[in-house]
Amino acid sequence: MRVPLIAGNWKMNTTVSEAIKLVNEMRLGLDEINNVEKVICPPFVSLAAVKELIKGSTIKLGAQNLYFESKGAYTGEISPLMLADLCEFVIVGHSERRQYFQETEEIIDRKVKAALGVGLKIILCIGEKLEENEAGRTEEVLTRQLSSPSAKIYYSSGLILAYEPVWAIGTGRAASGKQANETIGFIRQHISRQCGRGIAQEVRIIYGGSVTSDNIAEFMSQPEVDGALVGGASLKADDFLSIVRQTSEIKRVR
Ligand code: PEP
Repeated sequence: MRVPLIAGNWKMNTTVSEAIKLVNEMRLGLDEINNVEKVICPPFVSLAAVKELIKGSTIKLGAQNLYFESKGAYTGEISPLMLADLCEFVIVGHSERRQYFQETEEIIDRKVKAALGVGLKIILCIGEKLEENEAGRTEEVLTRQLSSPSAKIYYSSGLILAYEPVWAIGTGRAASGKQANETIGFIRQHISRQCGRGIAQEVRIIYGGSVTSDNIAEFMSQPEVDGALVGGASLKADDFLSIVRQTSEIKRVR
């Protein structure tokens, strides 16, 4: 049984006081839902404040990025060890990092290794761009993104994959539940060939891309989809709560 996971990626939104307000609005509601793992990923500067606010609750904390070096002259960067002190999860390889900060597969793989080295749980984002999708190259792109020689170690350590078609992120143009289910099914088959069926059945693979409280039920009704990475809708307490509540109800009866 794979425990469903809903993660909120706040991206570069909220000041510290706005983050505190948002957590206060969703904390009690989220805390009482117990069959879904709930992760919120505010900006770095709010991690310490949010950590205090959710202490003793079932809500988990994640960062949106990290650097792969452990310390030193890397002005402005945040090391894995600094994060391990503050939070449990970290998002790696988000398409915005790939697109705006030129993160390559090699850089992403180094980040995954560094995060695992300090015991952080990783949400690794993969997904094809619009032109790749339209050219029928989705499977080829995903295969490349999943090709780390250390894949078996990663999945055995509980790494979570987020399938996020780039054309669906922040566009309001979500994939359909069926499309997400088929592609995540392909990813699971790929992992099965790469690392064995047992590991493939254990890996949680979530969907991301314009998930809202209106369409979450369509995704969570799909057997391959183990949860969601939510951007825009995670910044509204009512919407995020509704997404987690619906996930809890749908996955409870399955
Ligand atoms: C994301 O940031 O990972 C994301 C999926 O964003 P949105 O839900 O806004 O499309």
